[in-house]
Amino acid sequence: MTTTTRYTSQVPSNTIQVLIDRDRIAVRVEEIAAQISRDLADVRVEGEIVLVPILTGSIIFVADLIRHLPHKIRIEVATVQSYYGEKKKVKQAKIIGALPRNVDGKHVLIVDDILDSGETIRLIRNELQQRNPKSIRACVLLRKQRPTAMQTTCEYVGFDIPDEFVVGYGLDYQSYYRNLPDVCTFKGDAP
Ligand code: 5GP
Ligand code: MG
Repeated sequence: MTTTTRYTSQVPSNTIQVLIDRDRIAVRVEEIAAQISRDLADVRVEGEIVLVPILTGSIIFVADLIRHLPHKIRIEVATVQSYYGEKKKVKQAKIIGALPRNVDGKHVLIVDDILDSGETIRLIRNELQQRNPKSIRACVLLRKQRPTAMQTTCEYVGFDIPDEFVVGYGLDYQSYYRNLPDVCTFKGDAP
């Protein structure tokens, strides 16, 4: 496996290794967008999508995804505290600040970087469901192959990956590495 380029030269080469490179990501993002477009074809004629990116990890994915979506889209971000930038989860997922209120009668698409325990997606979906949307779907770039993730309802999944800690393409370790263009496994403690 190759290591990714850029400032990862500052960390030992066996700490960060490319799992899914940028070209594969680009192809898959386009495929997911095509799938969403098909499922929400009616909305293209009339109506709009309220797209809810979960901050901060989804930002790169969302930026790429929305440019392949031809719909009328409104973006309403949500913040969920789950990992605190650490490798280990320390508390239950918690919504920080306000969630979009004006989803009544709208088609909602929740977008996150990765599905792990599934808590984040379940929490946001349950909260938004109470606000009477016309439909609600979830989309993640990555899903870890562990039972909790596989059992969580998620309509669009980019890649199933091993149950390993990953960084890059928006995902962080202690707030670093989000700008790596590839999804990489991260082993070690060096930030
Ligand atoms: P869940 O709520 O499904 O357990 O976890 C979802 C959130 O945990 C993601 O939005 C992400 O912020 C974080 N997370 C889960 N697994 C990883 C991982 O392997 N790497 C990074 N950087 N964040 C992760
Ligand atoms: Mg997150």
